[in-house]
Amino acid sequence: MAIRFTILGSSSSGNCALLVTDDCTVLIDAGFSARKIGGMLEEVGLTPDAIDAVFLTHEHSDHCAGINGLCRKRPLKVFANRGTATVLHRKLRNRPDWQIFETGTCFEFRGLEVESFQIPHDATEPVGFIFRHGHGDLLSPRRSVAWVTDLGYAPELVRQRIRDVDILVLEANHDPALLRNDRKRPWAVKQRISGRHGHLSNEAARDLMASVERPSWRHVCLAHLSRDCNSLDAVEAAFAPFRGDGHGFELSVVAPEGFGPDLSL
Ligand SMILES: [Zn+2]
Ligand SMILES: [Zn+2]
Repeated sequence: MAIRFTILGSSSSGNCALLVTDDCTVLIDAGFSARKIGGMLEEVGLTPDAIDAVFLTHEHSDHCAGINGLCRKRPLKVFANRGTATVLHRKLRNRPDWQIFETGTCFEFRGLEVESFQIPHDATEPVGFIFRHGHGDLLSPRRSVAWVTDLGYAPELVRQRIRDVDILVLEANHDPALLRNDRKRPWAVKQRISGRHGHLSNEAARDLMASVERPSWRHVCLAHLSRDCNSLDAVEAAFAPFRGDGHGFELSVVAPEGFGPDLSL
């Protein structure tokens, strides 16, 4: 096995993924309570003690809610850029072992190459990530995962970054009509969600995928669905052009309740 990748949960209410290589076990975002993350890890045969590090995209609670609890027993290594770490640090009683990276750079953690890139979202310094592992030979094939959620639109930089990965996790946050008709959210919040620093609609995510020429994807996971302003039917309808043979990749939709597919490459 080169890598194992599983989304433990993903929606507007919480996001957390597990990435395992021969050399490390890490979480990408930790947007559930530590207790809940513990339960999710148990379901895949792990405990929080197995986690070597967490990589944070930004400080919103649906990405960071578990950090305080995960650091109760030990100061866990938490990778974040300066902006995210500074905002989050003030709210934490249990302090992580911060590992600060600079947005746009590449760094390594236990054989995992990590690249961060800026995304447009209403947080202090939000990023997407690409994780790469392996030397590119038979024994150690090179594999990569892109984690791209929470972006109001997709700049050219994002399009370039996601093209050559094996696994793409992409936000398909809302259906514009369901968002418009939602009764819980005030107008200003709806404007924020659909704005340039909000979230990708199903159609925007689909158009982004369609605009990438000859992608290397083997698997695309649609994630960060809004519980109230999206539905599995709306996602299926929007992404129908990518169903069926001939696209070269499998498409999964991560339901707001439940795990994503367990992918080993
Ligand atoms: Zn966010
Ligand atoms: Zn989010």
